[in-house]
Amino acid sequence: MELNRRDFLKLSGTGLSAAVAFAFLPDGTVMAAPREFPLKTKVKETTTICCYCGVGCGAIVAAYGDGIIKIEGDPDHPINEGALCSKGLAMSQIHQVNGKPNQYRLTKPLYRAPNATEWEEKSWGWMIETIARRVKATRDKYWTGRASRTDAIASLGGGELDNEECYLLSKMNRALGVVYLEHCARI
Ligand code: SF4
Repeated sequence: MELNRRDFLKLSGTGLSAAVAFAFLPDGTVMAAPREFPLKTKVKETTTICCYCGVGCGAIVAAYGDGIIKIEGDPDHPINEGALCSKGLAMSQIHQVNGKPNQYRLTKPLYRAPNATEWEEKSWGWMIETIARRVKATRDKYWTGRASRTDAIASLGGGELDNEECYLLSKMNRALGVVYLEHCARI
């Protein structure tokens, strides 16, 4: 593009200067070059998988500072090819509501003892060990040796589990002798 200074000043008034930066060369030629917009350089895009259901749609999250400014379907993802359902589009609400951190989001395990009315905060280690101990005790107490099973434990999977997780969960439960296997998407 060849411009003299007068042309340049005229054009800068029409908004062209918002899209490009200009460099004046020693011979009077003006070069136009793409300009980096500050917003573009500060927004970080990350790909992720929707956490809501086992379909596992791919999404692109655009973050600015600590906040999410947009979540859209990932057009390169083989499952959804850029589409997201209404739940996937609302994924940012897990992190924030009206631009503020979501105060209702649980970030630590909560435990409510039998007959208690209050929830207590526990560590993941405590939770996993307690569940393992109770599964073992219940299985031992209610084991039906003749049928090699226990009717005292049921397992309920969630819609967010994917194929491989469901496979592992079923295997583990069958190995434990659990026969009541269900999934929230089927109930
Ligand atoms: S909830 Fe919707 S967007 Fe998320 S994985 Fe399932 S179908 Fe895809």
